[in-house]
Amino acid sequence: MDMQAHGVDLYMTVGIPRALLYYYYYPMWATFFKELGADVVVSRETNKGLLDQGVRLAVDEACMPVKVFFGHVASLLDSADRIFVPRLVSVERRAFICPKFMGLPDMIRAAMPADGRLIDPCIDLSKNEREFHSEIMRTGSIFTRSRVAIHKAYQKSKVVLRRFKDLLVAGNMPESAISLSLAGHDGAYEGYTGEFGEVAAANQDAILSGPDDTISVGILGHPYLIYDSYASMSILSRLRDAGCRVITCDMLPDEVVEKEAQNLPRWLFWTLGRRILGAAFHFLHSRSVDGCLHITAFGCGLDSIVGELIEREAKRSGDIPLMSITLDEHTGEAGVVTRVEAFMDMLRRRKSA
Ligand code: SF4
Repeated sequence: MDMQAHGVDLYMTVGIPRALLYYYYYPMWATFFKELGADVVVSRETNKGLLDQGVRLAVDEACMPVKVFFGHVASLLDSADRIFVPRLVSVERRAFICPKFMGLPDMIRAAMPADGRLIDPCIDLSKNEREFHSEIMRTGSIFTRSRVAIHKAYQKSKVVLRRFKDLLVAGNMPESAISLSLAGHDGAYEGYTGEFGEVAAANQDAILSGPDDTISVGILGHPYLIYDSYASMSILSRLRDAGCRVITCDMLPDEVVEKEAQNLPRWLFWTLGRRILGAAFHFLHSRSVDGCLHITAFGCGLDSIVGELIEREAKRSGDIPLMSITLDEHTGEAGVVTRVEAFMDMLRRRKSA
């Protein structure tokens, strides 16, 4: 990259942990840093060593996804100059992310020698975008003094995010949507005309219309739990290998999820919880799947409330089987596999009957 042409003053490697909201925002973050001339490295996929290290470093009370995040950050200490650990408060108006996300930079600094190396903008879109924009400028100023270059990098990163979201709704899992959205990083996305949006719209017919001969399972859960193969014990690929069609909350258009979430008597101001509930209500009311699987994190307060609301709705709606699986670092794989297989058998029997 021509550093001068991009108004870039300082070259460095930025590490992005493959955990938590990586599954929703990595293409945006990576584009922003790359456009500012940084080299971006992502931590490797979660494995036992990484989780064990996270468990050692994090406080006992933390949920498994936070412990996984600690392991990913620690693994980047040797390979990156700076590590991106945003203080995530809110990603939309009038709603918030789990409080654990707000304290991430502080918890990381207390647990490992990362002080002075974290890039930790406060992302809070709950009220307006002005302060968020200042945080973008502050973050970009780590790399360059050019406000124009920072602004351009941010605008490009937003286009890539739009492309990524369309790819998810088009039926892609995050890892392939990430690769596709970042392909042609040297400018292809500047002219993004929404072609994946058209694929997404076509795909919705299959997703929203209801089961055919294939067994469809609606997957409910936090992205960092359901898409992390190690943490989720590969439940999604096991279902696919068994011939199931897997439909996650993220394959549903925002409008569908939001409309269903409005059936709640009160506005649920937790973004992730509202998304899971909206998707669950859609699956249960439209009967567009043969069964629902809710994957939760042990000790997650949000999951216990959302889980209860989903169970009540499943009983009320009556016809769609629901199973919950709670995971933490002590969960035995054999038990999970047996339950998933039994659930699949039950769905198959119901379908053939
Ligand atoms: S929402 Fe639940 S699983 Fe996610 S970080 Fe918070 S406590 Fe952990």
